[in-house]
Amino acid sequence: MSDCLFCKIAAGEIPSAKVYEDEVCLAFRDIDPQAPTHFLVIPKAHIGSVAEITPENAPAIAHIFQVIARTARELGLDSYRVVSNIGAQAGQSVPHLHFHVLGGRDMTWPPG
Ligand code: AMP
Repeated sequence: MSDCLFCKIAAGEIPSAKVYEDEVCLAFRDIDPQAPTHFLVIPKAHIGSVAEITPENAPAIAHIFQVIARTARELGLDSYRVVSNIGAQAGQSVPHLHFHVLGGRDMTWPPG
């Protein structure tokens, strides 16, 4: 999508602090980190949110979770949280599917 921030980051049109990239997805550090380690993993193809996962794009999502596990391990995390906000009420501010990966501090439950 031409006006999508994360599509532009995926295309390299807007710089990001990349921690992993392949043909399917990109992982980069959140610009406003909420934990000592906080990165986002996005599909390069535009998907609006978890609510738009389908049988057709599900293989990319499975791949992304493998990337989350491997990248978290490589960044030294052995305990972390994976979060995806869906819709404005849940706090989604960028309408391109992304998984937050947060670690390096104690977490509380339930999230606010
Ligand atoms: P959400 O609010 O769940 O949609 O998450 C969007 C996240 O994207 C927020 O945590 C923002 O800090 C982050 N973000 C916004 N713009 C950028 C950017 N240019 N580079 C890295 N992270 C960003």
